[in-house]
Amino acid sequence: MPRVRYTVQVNDLELDDRPKEECGVLGVYSPHEEAARIAFFGLFALQHRGQESAGIAVSDGHKVRMHKDMGLVNQVFNAEILSGLPGHMAVGHTRYSTMGASVLRNAQPVFCQSLVGEIAVAHNGNLINARELREEMEAEGEHFESTSDSEVLARILVRHLHDGPEAAVRVVMAKARGAYSVTVLTPRCLIGFRDPAGIRPMTVGRLGEDGYLIASETCAFGPVGGVAGQELLPGEMVIIDQSGMRFAVGAEETKHSMCLFEFIYFARPDSTMYGSLLYDVRERMGRELAVEHPADADIVVPVPDSGIPAALGYSAVSGLPFREGMTKSRYIHRTFIAPDQRLRELGVRMKLTPLIEHIKNQRVVLVDDSIVRGTTTKQLVRLLFDSGAREVHVRITAPPIKFPCFYGIDMASKGELAAARMSIEQLCEYVGATSLGFLSIPGAVRAVGRDESHFCLACFNGEYPIPVPSDLKKHAFDDPPEVGALSALSPGQLRLIDD
Ligand code: SF4
Repeated sequence: MPRVRYTVQVNDLELDDRPKEECGVLGVYSPHEEAARIAFFGLFALQHRGQESAGIAVSDGHKVRMHKDMGLVNQVFNAEILSGLPGHMAVGHTRYSTMGASVLRNAQPVFCQSLVGEIAVAHNGNLINARELREEMEAEGEHFESTSDSEVLARILVRHLHDGPEAAVRVVMAKARGAYSVTVLTPRCLIGFRDPAGIRPMTVGRLGEDGYLIASETCAFGPVGGVAGQELLPGEMVIIDQSGMRFAVGAEETKHSMCLFEFIYFARPDSTMYGSLLYDVRERMGRELAVEHPADADIVVPVPDSGIPAALGYSAVSGLPFREGMTKSRYIHRTFIAPDQRLRELGVRMKLTPLIEHIKNQRVVLVDDSIVRGTTTKQLVRLLFDSGAREVHVRITAPPIKFPCFYGIDMASKGELAAARMSIEQLCEYVGATSLGFLSIPGAVRAVGRDESHFCLACFNGEYPIPVPSDLKKHAFDDPPEVGALSALSPGQLRLIDD
């Protein structure tokens, strides 16, 4: 009998109107230390990139072993489980489902048999031609065990790894279209590679004298004693084995189209991307915002925690004092207790407590990172007015989001995107603000310090760097849709996880 568990996801307690991070991937080569332990702490640092499931696969040079389950990293692993994962190489994954339901069989790493032994694959991103590739392989007799696009990647690798890792990754890059930053573990080597557009991030680092790390973000290096090195180039791969680390080109034609949203919101502020600390990038976004959208106000208040650096930047340029206007509960992030109707109606108030003494009688500039459906912003504005604010001027560091993302971010369908349905004036009225201003695309990329041509800006301007089929769906292989295949549950709704 399959085990059935019920969990409750309380969306309104998670300020759930924000775009959802995608996944975090990790690779560890540690000749003098158990790789599973390092992977655990590395994944812990990447928890913000996915909270639905977590997994670690290890190799001792002969055999690949794996443990994965639904839940947060520290719910999935304990000391006993980690001690059952011996070996000096590991890959790890934290998942937020962007293709395929949130169920155990879609948790990663993906584990497959190949001619070189077992392999484990951890993927961040979305393949936009996964359906065609899968149908092609199924017609050739391939059997798939999950409904995620990541298994498609894994099964292409399986077919070609006996020709060597370089050759196998080149075949993947020739066939797969979309966003993918991937770590792969075979019994004898660790591989990392990044799609030819470099949409999702990936950095390589050192671990002691002769160890190596690969991670979605550099914030995973410090906690395990690693040092960040170079960002993988678009279409580049890295192979790590007992002879050391080598890089190779996987695809010749590349054009860097890094996700701008990584800089605005997804990645941790202590990570670096394109050579810049994201905290500083966000602070510069706040400065740009103050120039583009000044406000006649008394104080600048961030939406904690992500709005803090931008609010500091806004404050520095505008000369308006920075004040914390609300505190965030650290422990309500995920709860297994459903709130009753009365508590649900309190919405963000269960997560954010206003500092009424700071807000009362003030004209407030409220700085946040993004507006997706507008529901959270509406609640935040109401919270400030209810706390005695005289005016609330909302300032957003993301340009208006008008188009959906097909490259690994779950943000909403086009019809749900507030900025796609309303003018700025209508949206301002909808959220109940005194005024509303979004940072422009030029302002946002200026804050990063790269030319606009180096970014994916598709959710802002509709120009997709990799063409997207009109019928692409999140649950392309969930047929019939699995229970739990829900990207946005109603508040307090039950999610069924059947493994
Ligand atoms: S569409 Fe938006 S969220 Fe998606 S990769 Fe491009 S910039 Fe990032």
